[in-house]
Amino acid sequence: MQIKNYINGELLAPVDGSYIDNIDPSRGKVYSEIPRSNSGDLQTAVAGAKEAFRDWSTASIEARSRVLLKISEGIEARMDDLVAAESKDNGKPLSLARKVDIPRAAANFRFFANAIVNFSSQAHVMEDVAVNYTRRAPLGVVGCISPWNLPLYLFTWKIAPALAMGNCVIAKPSELTPMTAFLLSEICIEAGLPKGVLNIVHGFGYEIGEEIVKHPDIKAISFTGGTQTGKIIASITGPMFKKASLELGGKNPAIILEDCEFDHTVKEMVRASFSNQGEICLCASRIFVQRSIYNKFRDAFVAEVAKLKVSNPEDETTNLGALVSEAHLNKVQGYVDLAKSEGGTILQGGNRKFLEGEYSEGYYFEPTVIEGLSNSCRTNQEEIFGPVVTLMPFDTVEEAVELGNDTTYGLAATIWTTNLKLAHNIGHQIQAGIIWINTWLLRDLRTPFGGMKSSGVGREGGEEALRFFSEPQNICVKL
Ligand code: NDP
Repeated sequence: MQIKNYINGELLAPVDGSYIDNIDPSRGKVYSEIPRSNSGDLQTAVAGAKEAFRDWSTASIEARSRVLLKISEGIEARMDDLVAAESKDNGKPLSLARKVDIPRAAANFRFFANAIVNFSSQAHVMEDVAVNYTRRAPLGVVGCISPWNLPLYLFTWKIAPALAMGNCVIAKPSELTPMTAFLLSEICIEAGLPKGVLNIVHGFGYEIGEEIVKHPDIKAISFTGGTQTGKIIASITGPMFKKASLELGGKNPAIILEDCEFDHTVKEMVRASFSNQGEICLCASRIFVQRSIYNKFRDAFVAEVAKLKVSNPEDETTNLGALVSEAHLNKVQGYVDLAKSEGGTILQGGNRKFLEGEYSEGYYFEPTVIEGLSNSCRTNQEEIFGPVVTLMPFDTVEEAVELGNDTTYGLAATIWTTNLKLAHNIGHQIQAGIIWINTWLLRDLRTPFGGMKSSGVGREGGEEALRFFSEPQNICVKL
């Protein structure tokens, strides 16, 4: 099967006829091809988007909202296709794609279809002197670039607010997971999205991705991916004075206090560590446990992790499917080897897992728990982005906060305690954009989403996203 680009309302082959293999990581086998797009494809997409912008940006809010709702319904109507495609492309359990990824993609369109209708701008009255109001105009043509871990979920999280605000979009999914973006193209056509409003170009990040970032007619870049890629993007957008929202990596601390609700914490920490094979930027990575309960927690946690089933994504009882690629599997294995050389003890897992039959060449890895490392070692400082967590004891709250913050990253953190006053106090001291107290990945789409330090610049979600995709203009009227 050959995937096509979605350009100016049409499904098109790449102009130079070049394709990239798309691999099913659960079997380690090529199963489709995707366009290796280049600047020729991008020029057609940008020309179409600029043309479409005139009508889309001036369409009524209700008209834009209606189309976005139709896309949301289209996603729901093709739930089974999308679930199967996401699981096959990424290696994640089918059950997870059905429960989380695809419903959330539909929710993203529904949320921003409703948010735009309720979006308001500010007015500042200078009593008896003047009134200021803030006009928020769409930016024009914008670029959205997303990663492979939550493919349609994160792709639509960018596209929906950009479109709702009246922009036209050039979007690029990860070349590792293009299939649901392709199906979204079909859904947009069926929903009656006017041609050119959304364009989806497939290909390599360092080729077509970078072309999008550099294109002078693309006014803003919304990017989610690794911190190194974020640096490259910022080095291009900075001198161009191009707006950029960068959602990058993490090395998220979990702080577990001795008065936590023990069984709940163990159960939730397993979920926070290994959901989606640990390939979620928000997953816990460094788990700090108060020394008085360290041994008890470690033993209970390891016992629960040992019960997780690593198997083929189609098996409904699978907890962890395949990692996204062979390169990523090797990266994860490399970090486990590094942890051993840094003096870590592998309490659970640590190895590639080989399945039988048609899945024998898939990229499976055991959920892995390591102890005995210092927070400053490379294993605890570099993002692994796989099913690997480390356990470390601490004595005082001050020490936990210091260790939690001792990283270049600042995306998310979890705090586990029944002392809510203390939890707020710790939360305010942790340098991370998202703090969960006694829970993990509980999301309200209205909240600001994003990281501090090397985890990114800017926030997505709710009004933050609508503000990013618009240019504020102060209009001052003398009374
Ligand atoms: P990458 O940074 O490698 O890629 C992200 C996207 O950028 C892909 O579409 C990629 O294309 C593209 N890309 C790569 N190089 C360039 C370039 N030079 N110019 C423009 N685009 C480029 O990240 P991964 O896909 O490996 O995703 C994993 C990372 O994403 C992790 O670090 C994770 O923490 C982070 N992430 C952050 C989230 C957040 O909200 N903060 C959420 C989810 C993930 P291609 O795939 O073809 O190379």
